[in-house]
Amino acid sequence: MTQAAPITQDVVTIPRKLTDGPVNLVGLTREGLREVLIAHGTPERQAKMRVGQIWQWIYQWGVRDFAAMTNLAKSYRAELAGRFVIEIPEVVTKQVSSDGTRKYLVRIAGGHEVEVVYIPEEDRGTLCISSQVGCTLTCSFCHTGTQKLVRNLTAAEIVGQIMVARDDLGEWPEPGAPKDETRLLSNIVLMGMGEPLYNFENVRDAMKIAMDPEGIQMSRRRITLSTSGVVPEIARTAQEIGCLLAVSFHATTDAVRDRLVPINKRWNIAALLEALRAYPKLSNSERITFEYVMLDGVNDSDADARRLVQLIQGIPAKINLIPFNEWPGAPYKRSSNNRIRAFADIIYKAGYASPIRTPRGEDIMAACGQLKSATERARKSRREIAAEAGLGD
Ligand code: SAH
Ligand code: SF4
Repeated sequence: MTQAAPITQDVVTIPRKLTDGPVNLVGLTREGLREVLIAHGTPERQAKMRVGQIWQWIYQWGVRDFAAMTNLAKSYRAELAGRFVIEIPEVVTKQVSSDGTRKYLVRIAGGHEVEVVYIPEEDRGTLCISSQVGCTLTCSFCHTGTQKLVRNLTAAEIVGQIMVARDDLGEWPEPGAPKDETRLLSNIVLMGMGEPLYNFENVRDAMKIAMDPEGIQMSRRRITLSTSGVVPEIARTAQEIGCLLAVSFHATTDAVRDRLVPINKRWNIAALLEALRAYPKLSNSERITFEYVMLDGVNDSDADARRLVQLIQGIPAKINLIPFNEWPGAPYKRSSNNRIRAFADIIYKAGYASPIRTPRGEDIMAACGQLKSATERARKSRREIAAEAGLGD
């Protein structure tokens, strides 16, 4: 193994309880919720039932006001209101693209902001959520990777992004109403800002909450976690979350991948493929999605396509080709449509699905890799970006 990829930025994990103020119930697992209720005076023998009731109010009906929890005694509701809050990130701005994509800028503790993108399609509605403010990794084609300030999101802030979108889409059912099977928000992708496997516990807890059958009820097969290749956490993802996996592959030789996805210097292509081979069985899921960003003259040759097919042999896979989304100062260009089609063709002929991802919400800078809160002023210079891409002076 080669040397660890340098990680130059500081990551801060905000503790669940920042101050002595009221505790936020959002983001606690069932067990966590039980513990805080007991610690604040709920008798132990009642705790399980209370957890079930409060859980349903928060995650099934989207209720944020304890006073509305009508199956709890009035005095108990007042006690809860005195000790706890039900808080999700605050929406600062919402932009709607001409193609219907919605981008929310939400504010979290510390004044940070993250972006959440909702993408409506004919047969589904996908919410792209973030796991960190910024990202400690510095993939040279990714706008998020140029943001210096990084902090892990809490489980509340992660599941809170789903709740924000459900609020905006008006998707909380009326208590007592018949179950509506048509969901505007049917899929989740952890493909926003940040590396989800560098914030494993919070991502896991948030996804467990989202999958809980008495709450938001997302199916684990409709949640896709995208990683740049944090190899030691891949088996854990299968075992503890069990969602679908996407991997930011992007290159077919270590020399090129080192440049594009610097975590490759720590866990190279061979190590990554070994972990990926084990994933479908461990998680009992179908295919792994290989994401491959098409960069003009960098990773898009026919030889690359053929090598890619060889490398992934034996892994049930779909290859998602992502036309590079440009951002100000980006050191790459998008491959031409003809090049992308020729590349897709080679993969398709080898027997793999090779959809080309249509950029969505480009007019509002909502496409993959473009997310970066404008308020985070700490930016790298063009020179630093070029140097990291190996194009330096
Ligand atoms: N950190 C995780 C998840 C977030 S990125 C990861 O890297 O997998 C989601 C996807 O968008 C990744 O495949 C990423 O490589 C890709 N991406 C980043 N910047 C991009 C850009 N400018 N154009 C197209 N895709 C990009
Ligand atoms: Fe981080 Fe993913 Fe962007 Fe790489 S592509 S810098 S891992 S968010």
